[in-house]
Amino acid sequence: MLGEEGLLTGEAALRVYECDGYTLEKARPALVLLPATTQEVSRSVELLHKAGIAFVPRGAGTGVSGGCLPADIPVMIGTSRMRRIRNVDLDNRRVEVEAGVVNLDVTRLVQGDGLHYAPDPSSQAACTIGGNVAENSGGPHTLKYGVTVNHLLGLELVLPDGEVLQLSREAGSGGFDLAGVVTGSEGTLGIITSATLALVRTPQAVATMLAVFPGVLEASRAVSAIIAAGLVPAALEMMDALVIKAVEAAYGFGFPADAGAVLIIELDGLAAALDEQCVQVTEACNEQGASEIRRADDPRERELLWKSRKRAFGAMGRLAPSYCTQDGVVPRSALPEIVERVGEIGRRYKLRIANLMHAGDGNIHPLLLYDENDPEQVTRVLDAGRDILLACLELGGSVTGEHGIGIEKTDLMPASFGPATLAAMADLREVFNPRSLCNPHKILPSDRHCVEVTRPRPRGGG
Ligand SMILES: Cc1cc2nc3c(=O)[nH]c(=O)nc-3n(C[C@H](O)[C@H](O)[C@H](O)COP(=O)(O)OP(=O)(O)OC[C@H]3O[C@@H](n4cnc5c(N)ncnc54)[C@H](O)[C@@H]3O)c2cc1C
Repeated sequence: MLGEEGLLTGEAALRVYECDGYTLEKARPALVLLPATTQEVSRSVELLHKAGIAFVPRGAGTGVSGGCLPADIPVMIGTSRMRRIRNVDLDNRRVEVEAGVVNLDVTRLVQGDGLHYAPDPSSQAACTIGGNVAENSGGPHTLKYGVTVNHLLGLELVLPDGEVLQLSREAGSGGFDLAGVVTGSEGTLGIITSATLALVRTPQAVATMLAVFPGVLEASRAVSAIIAAGLVPAALEMMDALVIKAVEAAYGFGFPADAGAVLIIELDGLAAALDEQCVQVTEACNEQGASEIRRADDPRERELLWKSRKRAFGAMGRLAPSYCTQDGVVPRSALPEIVERVGEIGRRYKLRIANLMHAGDGNIHPLLLYDENDPEQVTRVLDAGRDILLACLELGGSVTGEHGIGIEKTDLMPASFGPATLAAMADLREVFNPRSLCNPHKILPSDRHCVEVTRPRPRGGG
């Protein structure tokens, strides 16, 4: 049914699919299916359902919590051949695209018409719309524009028994918002085959500023000061000294060598309003001890600044053989405290930790540097990561801002939610996925002692 292109077997081909961006655990699927149409997805899933074989959906594999790890799951269903644009409706500012379409390609499709697709994960040149919906992804511009669910008008979903649903969530569509329920469900409720997305008018003007601070504490205080001034920047991102060092070596933007932290602040809207807002941002940053504030007016400078931020993960290889990206949230006002706690945890576990943040959202990404060939370092990374996330909870935040629970954080769900809430989530999953054939062992804690991965989990809690 799928032809040669639609079926991968053999060691070399399958090795590519043994993990996503969370590389601490690996497991190879027995078979990868690459259907090209909704009908092929539906028929494949129906056959797997009849045979009682578990399967996991996968987009581009850029997830960072092991969401598409085929742990004890024989079959993977990839969407890389589902890249058709089904409909472009400029008058109503919407598109319908298949699940395997790459995020950035949606904006490329409509930018000539003064529109764009707002959710912009830093991985947007590779990650797919199906993966974005499954993770409810955001990006640097989430602060003003929101996350995927805020731009989603409808979904086509193949249920774990092969049935195809059309789910609309447009105003006035009535009934339960099932597309909203599927958003962020990390591939545990079925396979998304297409999504209808709302487009946003590209702002008339954009001002991108760089503010340099002696350290992350001063930069964190400036974040609160900017918001307290009544501004809603489109983006408010922070990089600490270690990240700056790596991105400077990789992309040569010209960050000052002694910068302790930088904020990238982007304002957008009507050109007439931006100059005044830039003055307000400058005042707020100066009050918190900024040593330098620059406005990137030249489009090339702005592009390079964003390249440095969005490709910061890629530059980490210059600092250590491996890194583990954590993803936690704290209330914005607690940023200075979590920054101190992360530093203390790094010292306690003798690990270098670089800090990257969607600071305006209180979403932190500590990057724990280590060598994955040293099991003792791996243990310290896992324990330190866990302590960071528990600190986020203590400060009134959560254990994920945008990277999901996947397989990585299932152990932390009981610390995040009460038993009744966890039971309601399990009940909901059962309605869509009663035999737990679609992406088992993810999100909710379960008995995972049977799960085979190449690296035994060093800390208990299976
Ligand atoms: C360098 C880098 C930067 C990143 N920056 C950001 C960022 O700024 N913001 C952000 O939110 N995330 C970010 N991420 C995380 C990741 O890119 C997102 O979670 C992205 O949405 C995953 O898309 P994907 O296509 O790679 O999905 P995958 O990794 O393939 O899958 C992710 C999850 O979605 C499920 N899934 C995939 N496709 C489908 C489908 N069609 N139907 C049902 N379930 C499906 C999988 O089972 C899995 O659970 C970053 C990752 C990297 C490596």
